[in-house]
Amino acid sequence: MASITLNHLVKKYGDGFPAVNDVSIDIADGEFIILVGPSGCGKSTLLRMIVGLEDITDGDLLINGTRVNDKAPRDRNLAMVFQNYALYPHLTVYENIAFPLRLAKGKHSDEEVDRLVTEAAATLELTDHLQRKPANLSGGQRQRVAMGRAIVRQADAFLFDEPLSNLDAKLRGQMRSEISQMQRRLGVTSVYVTHDQTEAMTLGDRVAVLKKGELQQIASPRELYEQP
Ligand code: ADP
Ligand code: ADP
Repeated sequence: MASITLNHLVKKYGDGFPAVNDVSIDIADGEFIILVGPSGCGKSTLLRMIVGLEDITDGDLLINGTRVNDKAPRDRNLAMVFQNYALYPHLTVYENIAFPLRLAKGKHSDEEVDRLVTEAAATLELTDHLQRKPANLSGGQRQRVAMGRAIVRQADAFLFDEPLSNLDAKLRGQMRSEISQMQRRLGVTSVYVTHDQTEAMTLGDRVAVLKKGELQQIASPRELYEQP
């Protein structure tokens, strides 16, 4: 688990207008924070800076108080859950969940992989589906496999990049409550990017509203809701 501190973060692509402009947010250990705003406001860029897939132009990024600006993604111990799930169609659910552990060569014994995958599958109610392929799963089950991958890595934080935007409205509602329950059960620090107001107002402990790269406001859903 981790606290994440964004300290005056700036991202410039080339010499244009900054995609992220002086954004500061203190994310507490175990907090579920939403980054919301219209397309192009800098949400994904900010998330990618946190995970380490995008260089930071200026400012500091701290994880548990340690500056990680120059750390490679693999040394940040954060898990990203992608929009398209990025599941491997030819692998079973078991192997899809185990995949990040197999990548980390020599680090995990087969017994340990088995234990971590079995535990994650139980948490996600996927135990009966471990030998199936992604094509034979529902959208919600695929989403849970994607989360399983994040869980087995025992990451300090989960980063969600619009994970529900490919789903129909009904499934989106269902997955919204699943993600919310999962986050609370695991108590893991989460940063969740969306352009969907409903997700923003129902999922998180706090909502950070971005506009043109700048942090417009940050407040609990209740505070935002009660604003005149
Ligand atoms: P959002 O996720 O809120 O839609 P992005 O973070 O994708 O916003 O983009 C923020 C701004 O940065 C946009 O103006 C976008 O065009 C620009 N941008 C994003 N990625 C790149 C890139 N690789 N090169 C240049 N400009 C980019
Ligand atoms: P490599 O440099 O080994 O070819 P990558 O740069 O894609 O591979 O990833 C190396 C490691 O960085 C991964 O094993 C993973 O721990 C971490 N990593 C890469 N992308 C992400 C991501 N989107 N979310 C979380 N961690 C990532």
